[in-house]
Amino acid sequence: MGFRKFRSSQLFTGSAMLDDSQVLVTQEDGTIEAIVPLPDAGEGIQTIDGILSPGFVNCHCHLELSHMQDRIPEKTGLVDFVFSVVKDRHFPEEAILDAIDRAETDMLTHGIVAVGDICNNTLTVPQKQKGRMAYYNFVEVTGFLPPAAQSRFDTSYEYYQAFQQLTQPQTPNPKPQTSLSPHAPYSVSDNLWKLIQPFFNRQTVTIHNQETAFEDSLFKNKEGDFMRMYQMMQMDTSFFQPTGKSSLQSYLANMKEAAQILLVHNTFTQEADIQYAASVSDHINWCLCINANQYIEQRLPPVELLRQQDARIVLGTDSLASNHSLSILDEIKTLLKHFPHLPIPELLTWATLNGAQALQMDGSLGSFEAGKTPGVINILGLESSTDYAKVVRVL
Ligand SMILES: [Zn+2]
Repeated sequence: MGFRKFRSSQLFTGSAMLDDSQVLVTQEDGTIEAIVPLPDAGEGIQTIDGILSPGFVNCHCHLELSHMQDRIPEKTGLVDFVFSVVKDRHFPEEAILDAIDRAETDMLTHGIVAVGDICNNTLTVPQKQKGRMAYYNFVEVTGFLPPAAQSRFDTSYEYYQAFQQLTQPQTPNPKPQTSLSPHAPYSVSDNLWKLIQPFFNRQTVTIHNQETAFEDSLFKNKEGDFMRMYQMMQMDTSFFQPTGKSSLQSYLANMKEAAQILLVHNTFTQEADIQYAASVSDHINWCLCINANQYIEQRLPPVELLRQQDARIVLGTDSLASNHSLSILDEIKTLLKHFPHLPIPELLTWATLNGAQALQMDGSLGSFEAGKTPGVINILGLESSTDYAKVVRVL
């Protein structure tokens, strides 16, 4: 069997940056063989400029919303954003499927090998059946009104079964790649939480967390923009009791059985929330979607706070309804623009190994360890002028 050998000025392993004294050796099909010192690598070494890295993991996407690119006005705030998405959701199925296909192709060419994807319908099933990249399917559960809990659960459960059938397990006791996941703290009733909690064991469970300041004001004092939204939707909110605590501290214990907890956005998360989360679970992943935060709320996520608390950070693109691209490199570029001191190896760890761990795919993805098939990508121009940085797929 033939081997391929790659040498570059910077070889990122998934957790550390090596230099050109090391050579990456793979099998023809991309399976990692080893990283060996240059003198031991023998002949036939391909030299590459820039950084070599395992493929990117996009921990938060809504592939089914890809047809909404450039349709939702920017910088309106979350409540109006959610309203626009719901109102503008209806398109001919063919246009939706076409946009899904193009978006997936785009992710593949931009070095993404795995996606944590939110699912509110089964429109992405045919695309995922092609098996071009790995998905963790988060079947979203939404329902603020307690009496609707059972019917909302039933609908989501049907989708959940459809996505479960997508992956034909080859091994006994395989890791799950589908979960039932609550949409957001402000959109899931206690009744609905109780119906989905029995499924969390072994799963990666995700939730949109503290994406707007109004989430905390709802849970603390039952006021703010969400009350306005419920009134616009003519909902009876008399059942809702504020907890007097932040949103995260009001709901997170519901998720403690999950194998991995993936908190998305966290734009308004405070230090006390991060400490509280660490007390609930050892498997908390904080997903940053900086471009979407800029698009919707013009806010920056609390990057420094998370780093100070040694929180595990992962990256996501969110959807084309709230982002101009589905590119993890574009997320890294924006992070570097606002936080120029962030070390590149650390950013790349968020984008590769940390993401693979959050999606429970680190057995095969996320790092250059022997036997894995993480993809090999080449990132150019990241150190100098981030505007021109680009990524190409090597394997
Ligand atoms: Zn989202």
